Amino acid sequence: MSLTSTTRTTAPGDDPPPQSYDGNSPFPQGSSPPARTGRERLYVTVTAVIVVLPFVGLGIAGWLLWGRLIHPADIALGFALYVLTGLGVTVGFHRGLTHGSYRAVRPVRIALAVAGSMSFQGDVVGWVATHRRHHAFTDRPGDPHSPYRHGTHLRGILRGLLHAHIGWLFANSPTPHGRYAPDLLADRDIRAVSRAFPALCVLTLALPFGLGWAVGGSWRHGVTALLWAGLVRIALLHHVTWSVNSLCHMIGERPFRTRRHDRATNLWPLALLSFGESWHNLHHADPTSARHGVGRGQLDPSAAFIRLLERLGLAHDVRWPTPARVAARQL
Ligand SMILES: [Zn+2]
Ligand SMILES: [Zn+2]
Repeated sequence: MSLTSTTRTTAPGDDPPPQSYDGNSPFPQGSSPPARTGRERLYVTVTAVIVVLPFVGLGIAGWLLWGRLIHPADIALGFALYVLTGLGVTVGFHRGLTHGSYRAVRPVRIALAVAGSMSFQGDVVGWVATHRRHHAFTDRPGDPHSPYRHGTHLRGILRGLLHAHIGWLFANSPTPHGRYAPDLLADRDIRAVSRAFPALCVLTLALPFGLGWAVGGSWRHGVTALLWAGLVRIALLHHVTWSVNSLCHMIGERPFRTRRHDRATNLWPLALLSFGESWHNLHHADPTSARHGVGRGQLDPSAAFIRLLERLGLAHDVRWPTPARVAARQL
């Protein structure tokens, strides 16, 4: 529990003494972020284009292939499974199990853990352990996926972005579950969901195949549903989740005070696709907050879902941000 409670109670700026970086360390010196410039605003625009363009392409491909290799049911199923598995990750894995920003009744807690496992992002215990390590060492040596790993010169940044987005998955840097997620290892329900991970990976593909076949009436419809509502849907959520690790520590706004070296950003273009997780600067400033998008007009579907659970009596002890709490973290 030690690390968990550290993660939950450490206040911004309340950092242990910074690790001694020598001049050759690949991690950045000092904590002051570079001032935002017109160039940075351009980066955000370019990011939005890079994020959106492949999906415009997919839409055009879908239009051209409509009725042959893509069916309305594929889109409906893909959307439903994206929302289901996405909220499983953001509300279940992240805000609930990792940070304890609310408490859910047992069936909801289990259902969200199952839904998150169907996102193909690793088993629930491993996901939570890795993410807690990310918060414990954010953008410092020890962070499993910091884009600053290779330094802050241009080549280091590009290598670091690739590492933070996808490369870290292939790096041999295991996170000890017993040290980072002892609470989950002690939880029978969560252990069972964790053990079921391989079966849930099969289910997340079998479900669109079976439903596509049932709705369309032929195995061909099953195959197209497997392609769009299975593989494409999983790939999209993968890239959105990984972008929170990579882009949301590199590009965007930093209105809130985070710990030394922590460069988490708020990146609006990803807000809807990431269910509010791209308000990542606020999240790192106040990790236990149930709402990440605290500003005016900042969409946070995960917080809306937690609010719904609370109103239905399925979640309680929700840590909603108060104005004073937000103001205390504002720069
Ligand atoms: Zn982060
Ligand atoms: Zn987090």
